[in-house]
Amino acid sequence: MDSQPIPFKAETRQLLNILIHSLYTEREIFLRELISNAADALTRLDFEMLTNREVHSPDAPLEIRITADSSTNTLTISDSGIGMTAEELTENLGTIAHSGARAFVEAAQAAGANGSPAQLSNVIGQFGVGFYSAFMVAESIRVVSRSYRKDAPAAEWWCDGSDSFIVRPAEREGRGTDVIIQLKEDAKEFAQEYRLREIIKKHSDFIPYPIFLGSAKEQTNRQSALWRQQPRQVEAKDYDEFYRQLTLDWEPPLAHMHLNVDAPVQMYALLYLPGKAERSPFSLRKEDGLKLYARKVLIQEYSRDLLPEYLGFVQGVVDSEDLPLNVSRESVQANRVMANLKKLVTNKVIDTLKDMAANDAPKYAAFWQSFGRFIRQGAAVEQQEWERLLPLLRFRSLEKPGEWVSLDDYIARMKPGQERIYYLLGDDERSLRYSPHLDLVRPHGFEVLLMTDPLDPFVLSRLREYQGKQLSNLASPDLQIEPPAGEKRADADESKDRAGDEPEKTPEAGEKSELAQRIQAQLGERVSEVRANNRLSSAPARLVDAQGALNPELQRVYRMLDREFQAPKKVLEINPAHPILQRIAALPQDDALAQAAIEQIYENALLIEGLHPDPAGMIPRLQQLIEAALGKS
Ligand code: ADP
Ligand code: MG
Repeated sequence: MDSQPIPFKAETRQLLNILIHSLYTEREIFLRELISNAADALTRLDFEMLTNREVHSPDAPLEIRITADSSTNTLTISDSGIGMTAEELTENLGTIAHSGARAFVEAAQAAGANGSPAQLSNVIGQFGVGFYSAFMVAESIRVVSRSYRKDAPAAEWWCDGSDSFIVRPAEREGRGTDVIIQLKEDAKEFAQEYRLREIIKKHSDFIPYPIFLGSAKEQTNRQSALWRQQPRQVEAKDYDEFYRQLTLDWEPPLAHMHLNVDAPVQMYALLYLPGKAERSPFSLRKEDGLKLYARKVLIQEYSRDLLPEYLGFVQGVVDSEDLPLNVSRESVQANRVMANLKKLVTNKVIDTLKDMAANDAPKYAAFWQSFGRFIRQGAAVEQQEWERLLPLLRFRSLEKPGEWVSLDDYIARMKPGQERIYYLLGDDERSLRYSPHLDLVRPHGFEVLLMTDPLDPFVLSRLREYQGKQLSNLASPDLQIEPPAGEKRADADESKDRAGDEPEKTPEAGEKSELAQRIQAQLGERVSEVRANNRLSSAPARLVDAQGALNPELQRVYRMLDREFQAPKKVLEINPAHPILQRIAALPQDDALAQAAIEQIYENALLIEGLHPDPAGMIPRLQQLIEAALGKS
């Protein structure tokens, strides 16, 4: 056998150069890459032995052994896998043309131009050049291997990171591979067992073969890939323990989902709804995203391509036999398999939430309390399939103080003949309970949803109908309220029944009442109009939008997005039958108390709409009114 140095291909030389000279952070991942190669070699042997028992050392246990010697600064990763012949060593670790090496070099150059090549070391395995990552920590590497083929002698590969490597005959009794690393001076930590244990735990805990460290009898990794087990064989406490190891979260998860799917793609997944929305500072999960394994090998720590953004709080693991192991990050995203995985995972999460909502209302309420904002966010901004989130939404209701109700709950409670879902938009539930707009439904006993979340107007601006029922804002001026079946219209003219959708006419329509004119004269430019509305009952007045104004949902959206947004001028609707307004009408136009009362009615209406610019500014007038009410002593 020829032991002349064999030159690397140009792209491999460049790759080595970057690994040796530019990457200093996250160097520990080299161990994950070598363990993953060892596991691949064991998997391939496993597969071979399904049909062929004529292999070298057929009884050798399938395992990975890692030994470190801090006195000589060496680290050895051994496996009893498929092994390599001299030709395979030359080809696989040397002369093969690597498109991945070129891609990695380009990515490193691009990142270097941005001044941040650091994160690249973590993804090197995805370029199919993981083996070379060992040069981040190695002075030199020796690979001694013996193929599973019975007649193949052992061979070794040696390289000190220069432009060439050598391959020559070697001694190795059993089948498999030793990767022997002479560590760099600044990489001594990797000859320490405690450090190696930490790295194995962190990156290779679920490698499907036992990993033994040093002379330890106990394997270092957990090995069992819980998500690959049959759900009925896994105990509830194992699910919780796995979650704890995954996240270091002490709060138990709200729910877990275990999937084992064969079509349209093969997938195992173990997903969790966390106990609370805030990640603790000690959480192992530093970002949103699921752990993505391809055939038990971790290929992405935080894959955000498996769930829509609004479900980013879901934790867990997805593992597919159909994902290629050596794909770059970009091709993972573009992969058709990924699109299928995403659909499966997303559907599962949504179905689980729907089940929980249907069968365990208190648990769903707890979920909603912590995570409702994410579901709302999905319903507000998601481009695709946002409608399927609608049954998951919860709102406050006039009828059910302190409870969260769904649109379906609302519909189930609708009065016979009620065609609309009524709602009010506002800043907080308490003030909405005083809203004058409620006068319109009070006589009919209709339920009203109180929409107080900042995202509600976003949802409502796209949601105009649910289950065939129109969503109607009680504050819209032209809202026609149909009384429930069998109930007489409160204001119906007995002799000639008006058609349902004919616009409501107030007695004063056409000629404006004297009182309305008087109030309009006093408020002047501050309102666009003052008119009577005889369907108000307990409230003396309310503010509504003028004809053709931007709808109230969008006004709220704009107010949220732009602090400077000026609400358009409103119409003041007054209740001429209200005792306060009747008293005002009886007082002369220049009466100071009547004028103060009109001001106060207007400002109260502003306040209840959340539009009052200066509530404390009302105090002097309120004092004036109190003094008047108490009388002069
Ligand atoms: P990848 O694992 O993505 O193929 P690597 O750079 O990690 O890329 O490894 C290159 C190749 O070297 C592997 O495909 C495999 O053929 C061979 N190899 C590496 N380590 C081992 C091992 N422990 N046993 C057998 N073959 C190995
Ligand atoms: Mg590899």
